[in-house]
Formats: sequence, structure tokens, C-alpha cells
Amino acid sequence: MIKKRICIASILIAFIITFIPYTSAMADENNLFNESINNFITQSNETSQVQTSESTSGVRLQDDFYQSVNGKWLKTAQANVNSLLKEDSSFSELQEKNDDKIKEIITDLAANKSQHNSDSDETKIVNLYNNTLNLKERNKQGIQPIKQYLDKIESVNSVSQLSDILSDKDIDIFNTLIRFSVEPTRDEKSYKLDIKPTYLGLGNSDQYINPTEAGKTDRQEYIKYLYNILTLNGYSKEDATNKIECLITFETSIAQSILGYQEVSKVNNLDMSKYNIPVTVNELNSKAPNLNLPSIMKKLGVDKANNIVLQQDKWLTKINELWTDSNLPMLKNYLEMIVLESTSTFLTEDLNNASNAYTKYLSGEDIKDISIQDNAYELIKDKFVLKMGKLYVDKCFSNDNKKDVEDLTNEIIATYKKRISNSNWISDTTKNNAIDKLNKLTVNIGYPDYYDSDFNAYSEADVKSYEDGGSLLSNIMNLTVLSRSREIQQLNEPVDKRMFSSKLSPQSLTAEYHFNNNDLIITAGMLQPDFYDKNETKEQKLATLGFIIAHEIGHAFDNTGILYDSDGNMKDTWTADDFKKYMGRTDGIIKYYSSLEGMPGKNVDGKNTLGENIADLSSMRCLLDILQDMPNADYKQFFESYAKAYRAVRTSEYEEYMLKYDTHSPYKIRVNAVLSQYDEFDKTYGIKEGDKMYVKPENRVGIWR
Ligand SMILES: [Zn+2]
Repeated sequence: MIKKRICIASILIAFIITFIPYTSAMADENNLFNESINNFITQSNETSQVQTSESTSGVRLQDDFYQSVNGKWLKTAQANVNSLLKEDSSFSELQEKNDDKIKEIITDLAANKSQHNSDSDETKIVNLYNNTLNLKERNKQGIQPIKQYLDKIESVNSVSQLSDILSDKDIDIFNTLIRFSVEPTRDEKSYKLDIKPTYLGLGNSDQYINPTEAGKTDRQEYIKYLYNILTLNGYSKEDATNKIECLITFETSIAQSILGYQEVSKVNNLDMSKYNIPVTVNELNSKAPNLNLPSIMKKLGVDKANNIVLQQDKWLTKINELWTDSNLPMLKNYLEMIVLESTSTFLTEDLNNASNAYTKYLSGEDIKDISIQDNAYELIKDKFVLKMGKLYVDKCFSNDNKKDVEDLTNEIIATYKKRISNSNWISDTTKNNAIDKLNKLTVNIGYPDYYDSDFNAYSEADVKSYEDGGSLLSNIMNLTVLSRSREIQQLNEPVDKRMFSSKLSPQSLTAEYHFNNNDLIITAGMLQPDFYDKNETKEQKLATLGFIIAHEIGHAFDNTGILYDSDGNMKDTWTADDFKKYMGRTDGIIKYYSSLEGMPGKNVDGKNTLGENIADLSSMRCLLDILQDMPNADYKQFFESYAKAYRAVRTSEYEEYMLKYDTHSPYKIRVNAVLSQYDEFDKTYGIKEGDKMYVKPENRVGIWR
């Protein structure tokens, strides 16, 4: 059961820190303020010869196709899942293989350092890797590398000076007091500036005011962690205790003005005029004159934002009220504590261990101890996203593969168009709008085009080895300052539809359709054996990768997708009459899935899974249309490859959790419930009335049926 999440945190929040834990309160706050995108990550398939098994598990395939095809594998795999590995699927296996490839790339670079120019990204990756592992130097330097930041904070004598140093680029990345964050606009057309409330160590502001029992334990662990890092940084026991007390006092005080978890859950009762308010710099200044925001924002270069959004009005009033010289020691203490917390993992071995132990606690899971080697891999993956993407693509994905997948995608798009054109239940207006959407769909396969030439993405950052005067901490700081400056440069710029961002890199395992952009992304990480192989049969390719591509495109016409036009704007593109018919079809899908058992005694939530079920049904219809046009299509190979791609075992706790929260139906249903909608399936296996896989034609569902 996932109790909490570890996210790339704070300064740090979007940048520096891979290891400051960031609790679920933050994640939910983001859910409240961000429009969700549809994210579908799916499972892989064995490309080895698919056996046309009639039954390997004693179950008739006419009664349970999924079990019949996968029975043997499911039985063996059941032994693999436990509290550490909650799910074993082709997808989890692919993820593991990809991680191994990334590690291999890094260790190969380290072994061949001399082959690269000293200013190259490759050398910088090796320096960061070696510096992370160099515990001897890290221990020797102690906390020296952060002293310059602590001194800067210490030298502040007034709140007006405090405002001044917040615009210092080295301090800016630690500034979690007033968080200036560059985010895509709600329609994802360009970048805006969000002003987010002060970061709280316990994440959820409720935990400072009305802590739950679990919250009280979290607080104790938080305090224990802070005490550890303070004493390891050389503070006396007394000083450490005082500093923690001062921090908690400040966080408790500011927490009262920050929206808590409980309030978020009552979102319908909130006065939304107090949240996400568009403001100008002058308005901010009138709301919070003590902070001197115009000056801070000008020096940082964020005042140029055309679109500034104040997330929480009440918080701004509060921080302004606290911004007085008498509170200066408390404000300075907060900033100093943030520096200590967010850098602990980059200093000595003891500090690193303390940080890892706290991360482990926060994950709420029975995770393995984090080795120093793992820390190094994670840091490189996080800090050199672009370059690692390039190295990954060079090693693991060819132009030929890209072309092959693009061809398959184009065939799927053309097939959707044909089916829509031939639909006799909607008007020409609706048809034309739907086809326009497919014509304008942006397709991103594998990696962005500029990866085809060589590039160094980190030439502006100084990442030196210890021998050359660098340190792990200075490496991290310099890389973070660079990404922060790039973030600020993006303000007002359009969101590049072709871009694979740091959040969506080629090496990740992702397939997504975005309503707001009408674009499709399938990363190179997804396009790997055993999941995709250029040389497999067309039937196998359609069943695995083809299904995913067609599923994603199916989202363009799911219950959310149809609200957006071909440019990603929210607009009625279905006539009122057609929309009514569409809703009739979705009602049928909801009822059908709600009648299915996801696990013994517990049914699927047809409403929660509607969008994904529509995409599944649309996808399968499209693929069967392609097979119809193929001479001698091997339907058995297609259906069985599909069933294999979705084989998975989960712990029962995890299955129950997913049944409640996942917007996808359980794996078995994604196979059995989808296939039983189609004549082609019945015909292939002689399925007839009386078989459990049989659904009467009048009870069948789908949008493009
Ligand atoms: Zn989906």
C-alpha cells in the first residue's frame, strides 16, 4: 500500500533535491491546481514465439481467455510479489531492464573517462558520479561546501536585506519562503509564473494545527531527522533543540494560512476566489508591501511574466505580516534550516545516511536501503536528464525503429479516420471535426528530432572533480542554478509541443495523449524488447505497441477528449444531437464495466474507469479493422499476444488499492471484457452462447463499435 510518496522535492522543490521528501499533501495540492493529463503506462509482451495454447491452466479459453493464456506464468509469478515488489508484469520487468541500461551507460562512461573532452557533458557526468562515490573527500570537507550559503544568510541584518538576498541566484534555489515557480498555463499554451506558499517540512498544513495520530509520529520522525542533521553539522545539542523549536514555531504559524489537506478534500465548499488569483507585480506589492516583491522579482527576472498567479491569497497576507525585523531571527532560521536539510545528502557519509533513513521512513514502504551507488545513479538521472536521454537513445533506439513506429502510428490514424467516416450514427459536422482532430494530431515517437545531432546540454555548468577543486555539493549547486535559469527563460514562451521535457524524457516509460495539445508521446523507453521489436510479426506488433498507440489516440475521443478541439481548446465539436448519442454509449460502458468483478466480491468502478475503458475499446476496434485488411491475418497470434502483454500479478492489498484508485480497469478485465465485445474474437475461438466469454450482441459496448 502506498502510504506516501517520495517526490523530487522542494528547492529544491522542482530542482536541487532528489532526496528531500515531499509528502502527499503537496501532491494533492498540485492536483487541485493543475489540470490532469491522461497518462497511460502499460505492460510489455514477450516477443518470443507466441504459443497458440488452447489451455495451459485447465481453464477453457472460452470461459476465461486471460487465465487460459497466462495461467502457467501467473502461477509462477505469484511467488515474486511481496511488500517490496507489489506487481510483477512485463512492464515492471521492462522498467528494471531500462534502469539497468542507464546504469550500464554511466559505468561505461566512468570506465572510459579519458576518451572525453574535459568540458564535455560526458566528463561532467563522470565527475558527478565519482564525486558522489568519493566518501573520503566528502567526509574530509565536512560541511565546508555549504558554509558560504550559511554565511550569506547569517550576514542579513534586516528584513529588507533578507528580501535582497532572496534574489541572489545561489540563495534563490533555496528560497522556499516565497516560491516563484514557472509552470505551463492551464491550457498548456505557454509558461506562467506561479507564486506558491511557503514549503512546510511536514507537507500538509493540517499536521501543524490538528495533527492525526499518524501525523504526530511523522512529526517526531521529522524532528529526529532535523536533530540528527543539525548535530552532524556541528551544532550543540542545545542549539539544535532551539533551532528546531524555532522552525516548528514558524512553520506552525505560517501553516494556519495555508490550505490543508482536509480543506482540499472539501474543494466544492472552498471560496475559489481566494485561490489561483491572476495578479500584477504592483498588486502583489499592495497586498504584501513588507516583502518588496517588485525588487526581488525584477532581480530574478520573473517580473517579466505576462501571467502571474498567486496560489493562496491568505498565505501572502500572513507572510507579509511575519516579515518584520522582530521576526528576522525566525525567518533566517527557516532559510538556514532549508539549506541544511536540502544539502545533507550531498555532504558527509553520516549526513547522507541520515537523509536516506528519513527518505526511507517517508516512503512508507518496505524499501531497500539506498546504496551510495544508487544515490549516484539517481543524481545523474535527475541532473543530466537531457544528456542521459541522448546517450540512452544512441545506445538503445535507432532511427529505423523510429520510422517503423511512426509508420505504424500513421496506419492507426488512417484506420481511425476510415471508421469515423463510415460511422452512420453521427452527423457529417461531428465526423469532420473528429477527422480534423486526427489530421492535426502531433505525433512524437521515441525522442525529439534534435537528438539526431550531437550536443552538450550542460556546457554552462561547472561540474569539476574533487581533484580539480570541485565538490559534490558545488556540482549540484551549479547544475541547479543552470536549470533554474533555464526555467526562468521559459516564462511567456510557448510550450513546445515537440519537446520531451525533463519531466518526460526519452528514457522514461511513457505513452501519453494530451487533450490540451492534441499530441501523442511514446518514449523510446517504451519501445524496447521484449515489448517492441522491429522484426516481430505485424500481429504481435499490433497486439502490444499497436494497442498502446491506438489506446492513446482513443483518448482523443473519450469522455474528456471530446470536450477539446483539434487545437486543444475546450470547444463543442460534437453537435448536441450527436453528443446525446455519445452519452448514451458511455452510459452503456459504465453499466457494463460496473457489472464486472475486479476481485472477489468487489466490482469495477465503471465511472472512474470510463475514459480508460473507452480508450481500450476504441483501440481494439481499430486494430481489428487493420487485421481485417491484412491477407491471412493470424488472429490467434494477435489475441494471445494481447493477453500476454497484460499478464500481471499483484499482492492482494495492492490489487485492492488499484481497484479503488486506478483509472484503468484491472488487467484481466482489460483483456477479457475488451475481447468479448468483438465477433472476430468469437469466430476465432468458436465462442458461443453459454460460454463465459460470450456477450450478447445487443449488450456489447464501445464508442466506435
Ligand atoms: Zn489511457
